[in-house]
Amino acid sequence: MDPATCPDCGAELRRGTDEACVVFTCPRCPWRAVTSNLDVPPYDPLRYRVFATADVRGKLLAVRLGLALGQPARAMLAAAAGRAAIAQDVDACEVQRLAQLLAPAGVGVRIEPPFRRPLPAVGPTR
Ligand SMILES: [Zn+2]
Repeated sequence: MDPATCPDCGAELRRGTDEACVVFTCPRCPWRAVTSNLDVPPYDPLRYRVFATADVRGKLLAVRLGLALGQPARAMLAAAAGRAAIAQDVDACEVQRLAQLLAPAGVGVRIEPPFRRPLPAVGPTR
């Protein structure tokens, strides 16, 4: 079935999301379907690598990472230099958790493979 058109009348379906559900509704007839929203993080089967991005590098970034993640700054030096991921083989929920921890510290994340969900805005760096 083409999810974009109504199987009864052929009209273009409206797609809405409601937490863990996707709701397809037809604007012309009563046809309606509700399915699991496979875009929400708990259904994401991918494993991700997370790298730090920031307007600073080196020791200053290592300190920021260490404070945000509760790790010694020296353990964050490779990640701060962009040579190592701050997390590997993590699921989508953990990616979002890390991004939320790091954003207020002015640290963004680069994610491999590309992450299709919204991430928090990175806070001001002072
Ligand atoms: Zn229809």
